[in-house]
Amino acid sequence: MGDYDPDNIFAKILRGEIPCSRVYEDNDTLAFMDIMPRSDGHLLVIPKTPCRNLLDASPEQLAAVMSTVQKLAKAVVKAFDADGVTVQQFNEAAGGQEVFHLHFHILPRQEGVPMRPPGNMGDFDLIAQHAERVKGALA
Ligand code: AMP
Repeated sequence: MGDYDPDNIFAKILRGEIPCSRVYEDNDTLAFMDIMPRSDGHLLVIPKTPCRNLLDASPEQLAAVMSTVQKLAKAVVKAFDADGVTVQQFNEAAGGQEVFHLHFHILPRQEGVPMRPPGNMGDFDLIAQHAERVKGALA
């Protein structure tokens, strides 16, 4: 396994060097919209402290992130009147990971509607609207 790269894209988001559609943060975690959404409302939850993935995360990082994952999973169900939620998390390149800062995908799902294929950039205005819906559900 490689070392943590402090210049990965999510580290840059955490430092405010690149923008994101932020929906929630607390002392330990940040949640923001995925720019290539595989379902409407697809968002990511990350710890604010560095770790590559599940394999090097501390119990404290995992506890904080999972608490936020549950909070946001409930929020997307409310925001999108979803029938279910898919939570995904990938570890190392062989495990499907592309950004090497621990993150959990939260995808609101509707019965019978498949996830969209990966790798397609979303519409920024629509993603911003979806972020507002999630924030509204958290309020
Ligand atoms: P993975 O590491 O396989 O979980 O994939 C990384 C995820 O991060 C993909 O779903 C990308 O669409 C997403 N992503 C990459 N860059 C950004 C960004 N700047 N803002 C939001 N999501 C991003």
